[in-house]
Amino acid sequence: MIDSYRHKGMRRQLIEELQLKGINNQKVLDAFDKVPRHFFLDSSFMNQAYTNIAFQIGAGQTISHPYTVAFQTTLLGLERGHRVLEIGTGSGFQTAILCAIGARVVSIERQKELFIKAKPIITHLGYSPNLFYGDGYKGKVSYAPYDSILVTCGAPFIPQELKDQLKVGGKLVIPIGGDGKQIMTRLIKLGEDEWKTETFGDFSFVPMLKKTAK
Ligand code: SAH
Repeated sequence: MIDSYRHKGMRRQLIEELQLKGINNQKVLDAFDKVPRHFFLDSSFMNQAYTNIAFQIGAGQTISHPYTVAFQTTLLGLERGHRVLEIGTGSGFQTAILCAIGARVVSIERQKELFIKAKPIITHLGYSPNLFYGDGYKGKVSYAPYDSILVTCGAPFIPQELKDQLKVGGKLVIPIGGDGKQIMTRLIKLGEDEWKTETFGDFSFVPMLKKTAK
């Protein structure tokens, strides 16, 4: 895959569009400058890779809108070296953005086809997150506790395991709701059993499903 000057120029335009929509976290904008989104899409979508739309990535799943990725990443308030758990690797684009910020990333995907597809693209970009095929409802206790946890599918409820695997002071960003519409929610763990909850409006994600698929 080639990352040409044309692609880089399109990324700059996308970054301007994200800024106009209110994304002003410089770490997040710099990460969007570094990660070639077109690497994560099928070649037929190449020319639209830097427009603010979602795409099919196989197995009935979608890569999130760039704005959604930028918005969720901003809510995490990441610092270099933070340990982050992502639920729903999907295309791997969001995973690469987290890596580009300098986070130590663990990501879980329940669709085997997507898990297999994402790894070589992320590795090709020089990032080395820990990717797992499995059920995001369980989190990944062997790498816990996390500074932040990011759920990139619509969750019907907040899995207790994810709350347990967060550090005190850590943030859990999770779209909560049923099919089609979820409310972007951020929980901050103030103490072992003390939480601050904030909401950030409606979003639309593919559902967080139970049990690992084939
Ligand atoms: N972060 C991804 C978003 C992909 S869409 C990207 O940037 O491309 C959400 C993903 O969550 C889908 O790939 C879907 O298969 C996955 N998913 C759904 N339920 C899950 C679960 N219980 N555990 C892990 N992944 C899940």
